[in-house]
Formats: sequence, structure tokens, C-alpha cells
Amino acid sequence: MRIENDIKLDYKDVIIKPKRSEAPSRKKITLERTYRFLNSKTSWTGVPIIAANMDTTGTMKMGTELAKHRMMTCLHKHYPADKLINYFDKNQNASCDNVFFTLGIKDIDFEKLIQVAHSVDEIRNICVDVANGYTEFFVDRVKRIREKFKDSVIMAGNICTPEMVSELLLSGAADIIKIGIGPGSVCTTRIIAGVGYPQLSAIIECADAAHGLKGHVCADGGCTQPGDIAKAFGAGADFVMLGNMFAGHEECEGEWQYMVSKNDLDWTVLDKTCTREELTNQGWPHIKKHSLVFYGMSSKKAIDKYSGGLNCYRAAEGKITKVPYKGGVSDEEGVVQKITGGLKSTCAYVGASSLKDLPKCTTFVRCYRTHNDIFGS
Ligand code: 5GP
Repeated sequence: MRIENDIKLDYKDVIIKPKRSEAPSRKKITLERTYRFLNSKTSWTGVPIIAANMDTTGTMKMGTELAKHRMMTCLHKHYPADKLINYFDKNQNASCDNVFFTLGIKDIDFEKLIQVAHSVDEIRNICVDVANGYTEFFVDRVKRIREKFKDSVIMAGNICTPEMVSELLLSGAADIIKIGIGPGSVCTTRIIAGVGYPQLSAIIECADAAHGLKGHVCADGGCTQPGDIAKAFGAGADFVMLGNMFAGHEECEGEWQYMVSKNDLDWTVLDKTCTREELTNQGWPHIKKHSLVFYGMSSKKAIDKYSGGLNCYRAAEGKITKVPYKGGVSDEEGVVQKITGGLKSTCAYVGASSLKDLPKCTTFVRCYRTHNDIFGS
């Protein structure tokens, strides 16, 4: 047994110190980045925010909508091949450069990737996603995918320590390493397994290792507000992946809970999930979305849905909760505007003229209280 005594930090442990500078005008601050990837040798330009490959948020609708803002989406891995083929067919969908095909490490996942890729000529972005990226089998799988898809951008994870970053970039030939064990909003790995790593320190240490090799990292999980995203980029993340911040938006899929009204004034929230069609058939003239069931992809709900239920050697490592309906991601004062507005504000406070300059302009201050929450956060 060993104990590491160095202090490790999470988003909530720090704030970013403002700096005297010729503050750039927010209008001129650019959030677009251009990356050239280590192993695929291809380039991508856009705003490096990614919707998580959870079955509620990693949807095709999300992919299409976020692409309008040059943001990305990791499609969840449970879409059937024919739907994916339809979506990835470039003539029908111009947003594919900003969408990842996600797969796990089962043979059946690999076969689906091959089938879809053959039908659409090319898969530009591939995300190989497992809860525990620390196995040799995982590195071998990433390598095998690289052998078949030489020009695709491959993102692989999750891990949270630098030695695994080098392993996946060099042996696995991935381009982007996804960082985060246990920080997610609906994750219980740290409770069930007692395993993880404080996310801000994980990003700092993993980004350093990746950048030394000309690789990239994606900070995955734990952002609860736009300021956390700024902290992730300030710490060196090249991409930031978000689950709960996108959950509950119009572009999500899953079990919606509705509220109904006869007169458009008095609303009743229904306590069970019904479809809109069922409510229309019941004669309700006014129907609105109220909330969405949001759950971890390793929660009992997801395991029951996709893996035929828990078995005796596996515990669920995810929560099941509900998030309020939040409208469309592109709405005025919606999540996209909050994220981009927040990041531009961070850049202005520290004197960065672009997102690219944010890490070198960032000084974190350790603190015990980042904000005043007397009226909520
Ligand atoms: P959030 O942005 O909601 O804090 O975190 C999203 C991330 O949480 C996902 O991208 C994924 O890495 C992680 N995640 C999603 N579901 C689960 C789960 O059931 N268990 C664990 N350990 N992590 C999860």
C-alpha cells in the first residue's frame, strides 16, 4: 500500500484569478480551435465542446443542432446500424465532421463499426468508450481499430493518469484521450468502488503528458456550470465533454415526463412517463415537457435496458435521476449561449484573446468557497 500526499484538486477547489491586461473585446474573442491530430494526421476546426455519448444526450438531433455551433456530439453506442448508416450518409447529413461514432470493446461493437463504415465510405470520428480504460485488452482494441481506420480521428477512454495517456497515444495510436474516472453527475464509481482521481488535477497531469507527445485530451464529466468548463480549458483540456449540462434539452431522447392542462393556465405534472401521443389520445389539449429521466450508462436502468440486467458479479455504478426540461440548446439564453458567453467572459477577465490562449493566461487560486449560493447556484 502507498499513500500519495500531494494535494489534488477538483473544479470546486479553485477559481481563476483575474489579470490586469488590455482586455480583448468579447466580440473578438474566438473560441474556435484548429487541431492537427497525432495519429490520424488530420485536422479539425470548431468549438471543442462535446455532448456525452449517453443515450439521452448523445443523440442524432443533438449532433445536428450542435454542429450548427461547430460543437461536437458523441453519438451513443446503442443506435442500430441502419439508423447510423442513414445519419452518416454525407449527402443526407452535413454535420458528420462534428459527430463521433461510439463503440465499446465487444466483437459485436467492432462488427457494427465495420458495417456502418463500409456503407458510408468513411467514418470520420470514432470514440472507443469503456468505463475502465486501464486494461491491456482495451489498448489492443484501440490499436485494432486504428489498423482498420488509419485516417479517422480516434478518441479513447476513460482514464485519469498520465502513464495511460502515453500508452493509448503510442501503443493504441489514439488521437484524443478521454479523461475522467468518477467525476460524472450520475456516476457512483467513487462510492461503489472507491476509485477515481480529482478531475482538475487529472486534466492538468494528463494534458501535460499528451501535449508532450502532440496528442490531445478531452475532459469528460464533472462540469456543472459554464465556469467549470473554463477551468477545464484553463487546466489544459483540448475538448470538454458534457452530460448533465446538455441533459433535459429538446434535442435529448428518452423518457420524458409531461405536464398537461385543460385551459393552458392550470398545469398538472403527471407522475408516470407517457408518450405525447398517448396524452393526445387521452384528449389533453395542452401538453408540455416537464422533465427527463437522466441516468448513468452504468446505472441499473441502463444495464437492464441494454445488457439484460445486473448479474451476481457486477454492481451498478450510476445514478437514476430526473432533470427539468430546458428548451432547445440553441435558445436565447440557452446552454450554448451560456457556455460560449461564459468562456468569452473568462478570456476577457484573464486577458486571453482566444480559447487557445486561455491555459497560458490562467492562474488558479485554491479556495474553500468559490461562490455565494444563498439564493441557489
Ligand atoms: P457529467 O457531464 O454529467 O458530469 O458527466 C458525463 C460523463 O459521466 C459521461 O461522459 C461519462 O463519462 C460518465 N458517465 C455516464 N454514465 C455513467 C455511469 O453510469 N457511471 C460512471 N462511472 N460514469 C458515467
